[in-house]
Amino acid sequence: MVNRMRVIGTAGHVDHGKSTLIAALTGTHPDRLKEEREREMTIDLGFGWLILPGGEEIGIVDVPGHRDFIENMLSGIGGIDAALLIIAADEGVMPQTREHLAILDLLQIERGIVVLTKTDLIQDDDWLDLIESDIKTVLKGTTLQDAPFVRVSAKTGQGLEVLLSRLDEILRDTGTRPDLGRPRLPIDRVFSIAGYGTVVTGTLSDGRMSVGDEVEILPSGKKGRIRGLQTHKKKEESALPGSRTAVNISGLSVEEISRGESVVTPGHYLSTRRIDVFIRLLPAVSSPLKHGIEVKVFAGTSETVALLRLIGTEALDPGEKGWGQLELREPVMVVRGDRFILRRPSPSETLGGGIVLDPQPNARHKRFAETVIKQFEAMLEGSPNDVLLQASLAMGPSPVRDIITRSRLDDIAASQALVELSSEGRLVPLEGTELTFDSDTFVMAGSAWASQELKIKGILQEYHSQFPLRRGTPREELKSRLQVNAKIFNLFIKKLASQNQIVEGGTWISLAGHKIKFDDKQKVSIIKLIDLCAANPFSPPIVKEMQAFVGDEVYTALLDQGELIQVSPEVAFRKNDFAIIEEKISRHIEINGKISVAEARDLFKTSRKYILPVMEFLDASGVTVRDRDFRRLKK
Ligand code: GDP
Repeated sequence: MVNRMRVIGTAGHVDHGKSTLIAALTGTHPDRLKEEREREMTIDLGFGWLILPGGEEIGIVDVPGHRDFIENMLSGIGGIDAALLIIAADEGVMPQTREHLAILDLLQIERGIVVLTKTDLIQDDDWLDLIESDIKTVLKGTTLQDAPFVRVSAKTGQGLEVLLSRLDEILRDTGTRPDLGRPRLPIDRVFSIAGYGTVVTGTLSDGRMSVGDEVEILPSGKKGRIRGLQTHKKKEESALPGSRTAVNISGLSVEEISRGESVVTPGHYLSTRRIDVFIRLLPAVSSPLKHGIEVKVFAGTSETVALLRLIGTEALDPGEKGWGQLELREPVMVVRGDRFILRRPSPSETLGGGIVLDPQPNARHKRFAETVIKQFEAMLEGSPNDVLLQASLAMGPSPVRDIITRSRLDDIAASQALVELSSEGRLVPLEGTELTFDSDTFVMAGSAWASQELKIKGILQEYHSQFPLRRGTPREELKSRLQVNAKIFNLFIKKLASQNQIVEGGTWISLAGHKIKFDDKQKVSIIKLIDLCAANPFSPPIVKEMQAFVGDEVYTALLDQGELIQVSPEVAFRKNDFAIIEEKISRHIEINGKISVAEARDLFKTSRKYILPVMEFLDASGVTVRDRDFRRLKK
């Protein structure tokens, strides 16, 4: 049985003793690593691990290299279970202490310990109390406001035991991370190990990964397969969500993968260049956040520049919350609910952060539309039903499975929401009637379907009134007016046809109950035409004459209705007359085995002008086949 290894991260001002403390806690010596590496594949995860008094191993993400760069901290900090906020006793709160604390708060890291380091330098307990009360003021209103304090010295080892048992306590009820069956791992490092090939590391979430699984790298879309997994120094068959994980990937070289991308199961995720977001501006920012500015966005391990469109306001004041849409310069892979940080590119400053509401909005939103803000509110705080419905509304007609992925609900919540929404008609299947959470069935929000239905019927009605003599609207015309792709269009039409609301012909579509209607004048001309035909049923007026007599529109309508049968560009007969022709010719062949053109002509006392097209028409319709100068019945 694999257990998830919990992960903690460090934060704090430069030179406050982070690395020294981690070294003292882990006792991880480079030599030992080297030895292990030689013995067996050991993936250096870029982090250490330590053993808690209770025996549990936990991972520590220490900000590697360039530790004075806050942006490096960001790539490692996502997905940690708890933070150690490290503050040197001789200096107290410094600018980076505040900035790191703000980031932990924006990322909603709920658990942490404030570690007062270098206490060996301060003999005076009153001073330590003073520093601590100062820190408490700074922590107020953040996720760490109730965090315990521990005083340590890495030099003397004082307080280290206490720190470990505090860690044990705060991590005790962190529990498991949701397993949504759709693993993703934002990559923080890519490297290669001789004999094994490409390895990436990161913190796994939303599902488990197993050796042998096919994986996709996003945004690039490249595919590979998991050859090996380690959740710290141990090889595992599977890795659990929430674990620091190293993935050995076959089929892809180191050059084909970059930090900031994600390893995911194929088919579940999409990359994006536009996201809808909830934003919280830090109270301490130097100026208001204005609409239309460029910001740096840090999400997962990715970093990109984005144009910020504020929704519902022109600017956010320090400490304010609001809505926005980010137009990203490079694609990223994020999901609903992901936290991110916004920074000003220059002079660099952490501005705030927020939550991804919709990772794939179809369009730019109207900036001051009430409906948009309502939709944002539902995505931020709504029930699973609201969230699923909003995802469906935002996506339009789509497979159930894609809508659920976008909603980022777990399977149980999603299934329940599906049942409720479909029984209330708020979500409708476009095919079949049953909805299951993992199916490819296309669905649509009930309200969106209702307006689509109205639109289709409106277009058909309009066409019928404009062209009362036509059977229906040409399919292609209806499709282009609806502006949907062929797949969706066919689903719409099939659904309405199955409900007997519309009738589908080969190339046309009509409202159910639509009948071609002639006016009185037209009726009179039709009767006259019928009389003319009746006078010479097998040598009727030619097509051009018929058209001139009743008009082109009426003539076509008579063809559409099947009252006239046109056998060639020149020749047409009344329905019944043609039936007699077909019947007599068939009978003649049955008795005589065959018929010639001359025989057929004599049979109806007509001319070759009429009978030749008839014979060709019967051949083409599969009634007869030609055999030199004769016709026989087609078997
Ligand atoms: P970081 O930048 O936060 O990782 O800080 P370091 O761990 O590199 O430590 C900065 C300096 O403080 C180094 O010179 C350390 O030797 C020193 N230092 C770290 N912890 C202690 C401590 O507990 N006591 C004393 N006296 N010095 C310390």
